[in-house]
Amino acid sequence: MVKCSYCNREIKPGTGKLYVTKEAKKYNLCSNKCEKNMLKLGRVPRRLKWITKKQKDE
Ligand SMILES: [Zn+2]
Repeated sequence: MVKCSYCNREIKPGTGKLYVTKEAKKYNLCSNKCEKNMLKLGRVPRRLKWITKKQKDE
């Protein structure tokens, strides 16, 4: 099982996105929200509590 590089949630096979940086680092992203946040911040925090909480509510 692959985990989201941004929020650390598990990504089901066939879902999510694989993002590759200019440095050829690969990040698995579970959602557009994680993708946007990661691109905006330009880094990958291990875990953000507000993201995990918000996604549970959806
Ligand atoms: Zn995520």
